[in-house]
Amino acid sequence: MTIEQQIQDLRNELREHNYNYYVLDNATISDYEFDIKLKTLQDLEAKYPEFFDSNSPTQRVGGAVTKNFETIKHEHRMYSLDNSYSKEDLQDWETRIKKLVDGDIQYTCELKYDGASISLTYENGVLLKAVTRGDGFQGDNVTANVKTIKSVPLKLKGDFPSKFDIRGEIVLPFDGFNKMNEERIEIGEEPYRNPRNTASGSLKLQDSAEVAKRPLECLLYNLTGLNLGINTQFESLEKARIWGFKVPEVAKLTNSIDEVLEFVEYWDTHRHDLPYETDGVVIKVNNLQQQEELGYTAKAPRWAIAYKFKAEQVSTRLNNITYQVGRTGAITPVANLEPVELAGTTVKRASLHNADQIEKLDIREGDMVYVEKGGEIIPKILGVDLEKRSIDSTPTKYLTHCPECETELVRQAGEAQHYCPNYNGCNPQIIGRIQHFISRKAMDIDGLGSETVALLVNEGLISNYSDLYELTKEQVVPLERMAEKSADNLIEGIEQSKNIPFERVLFALGIRYVGETVAKKLAKHYKTIDAIANATQEDLINVDEIGIKIAESVNAFFGSDENNEIINRLKAFGVQLEMSAEQLIGQTNILQGDIVVVTGVFESISRNELKKLIEDNGGKVSSSISSKTSYIVAGNNMGPSKKEKAEKLDIVLISEYEFLQKLK
Ligand code: AMP
Ligand code: ZN
Repeated sequence: MTIEQQIQDLRNELREHNYNYYVLDNATISDYEFDIKLKTLQDLEAKYPEFFDSNSPTQRVGGAVTKNFETIKHEHRMYSLDNSYSKEDLQDWETRIKKLVDGDIQYTCELKYDGASISLTYENGVLLKAVTRGDGFQGDNVTANVKTIKSVPLKLKGDFPSKFDIRGEIVLPFDGFNKMNEERIEIGEEPYRNPRNTASGSLKLQDSAEVAKRPLECLLYNLTGLNLGINTQFESLEKARIWGFKVPEVAKLTNSIDEVLEFVEYWDTHRHDLPYETDGVVIKVNNLQQQEELGYTAKAPRWAIAYKFKAEQVSTRLNNITYQVGRTGAITPVANLEPVELAGTTVKRASLHNADQIEKLDIREGDMVYVEKGGEIIPKILGVDLEKRSIDSTPTKYLTHCPECETELVRQAGEAQHYCPNYNGCNPQIIGRIQHFISRKAMDIDGLGSETVALLVNEGLISNYSDLYELTKEQVVPLERMAEKSADNLIEGIEQSKNIPFERVLFALGIRYVGETVAKKLAKHYKTIDAIANATQEDLINVDEIGIKIAESVNAFFGSDENNEIINRLKAFGVQLEMSAEQLIGQTNILQGDIVVVTGVFESISRNELKKLIEDNGGKVSSSISSKTSYIVAGNNMGPSKKEKAEKLDIVLISEYEFLQKLK
């Protein structure tokens, strides 16, 4: 078998597994086997760049960075939908359209997915571009980001038309949304408010590798194009499914408005069992010939209408407001409600987010409040029933002192959250930090769980994460529910964590705003914990993607004597606080201080390899030319505007060969 054949086979195989998993929800291979195959393909593609294919499954991990999204005109306008709210509205609609078309009318009923609309263009079976709705006439080119969404086919199956657009909605399922929020809370960021905004925000992220990490899905519902050989909406959904798109199965063909109403009624309750958010039903005239006769108003098709679900709300009494302290000291107010049934579950608590939110809604203990529940873990309070407020009620006074340690709370200008500043003496902060330290993505300490951490702290056996390394089996065995064997495992797990690489240790330290990605960047750039500790704010900001907020937080962390002492102890215990010799191979400081722009097409090296070389040797890659640019590595076909800018700012151009010479 030739190499090319081998690469093609792997691509086809991985494509099929992706399809089974992400479109059909039916895994046919273990994650592990998938990863091995993907890695094999990646290695082959790296070794034989002549077989590069921008639609290879390897391209799904992202990597392309877009600073400004290009505006693209839609070949076919993306309309909005008229809304209806009642049986009468739907009957009126039917009366209107029956005057305009002859013959019986069938209706397709689909759910109205609540996400970000997207238009995908396919040519000869491959994804050409993905464009947001924008104003309906033109939107943003977000192709690089959409390619990372695994349920979007990069190559189609079966007998597809040579060119067409397909429209749909990019959604963030509740599960993934809740998980993302748990991770945000873990690094001390405020959680996202709702899946829809998070989905549309994701499409506009500059770094597609970040988008790849988000569990987005793309649900398709509309085919557009010329000569598609399709006669009805329902048929188009079936066809799109065959070509490999994720088209929800709930769509139903109906013969009358009464049947439409049955569909609406059914989904009004059952939508709560769906993994993503929906806000109504979309009813479409099924016959495309009839659709054409009906045409469009200034903003919406006459042949379709949305029926909006009423948001499920109940009112209940707010018994009291309590406050929780997070790992970073952030205070979250919680509404404790009189338990009430809502959307199939009993609701007892709701998040109030912060002081501003309480003030904005003027929420007071004893109020009757309106509560709504989406698929988010925590229900929302929408407002207060003022008519039911008792006359002696007084506005809520926000907490002034920490409920756990009684330290006075602080609130930084521009921040929504109050904090307990008693970093080293406040119990939930101490426990939370150690729990974060041992968590799976951090030190991944086997045999030690969150509850045991709390127990160890409360028993006075540890008070920060460096104390873990001095724990002995004898100290642990007497703990509640701790057997001989589990004590062994715990001590062994802690010992093993000394092998965890520096970048993960850095993440584990729990420096505010230093999540996994930032930790990686810092580790790669500075290589040792001492270098990070000694970096000035300006220096930190010069590192790719590190902003002022992170720089301040890093400086503050290493400005504390307690933290430095903890770090010194970790060092003494043998925890990895610098890159290992292995990780450092090929890394130098030759380009320290150089800000380099890479442009054009290269002969001996790929653009990504070139960028990696710059970063591995201490330089910084920048995407735009400015007076700060040190030099430009220019390949063939450098764009004229870049050339002009470089000349104007008097910036040196060097060839790839001159650049490689520098590193010799
Ligand atoms: P609106 O934004 O309220 O005018 O509603 C129109 C939007 O609903 C469209 O732009 C689509 O993004 C979205 N939508 C969600 N599900 C569907 C569906 N099944 N069919 C058509 N549009 C849908
Ligand atoms: Zn406190």
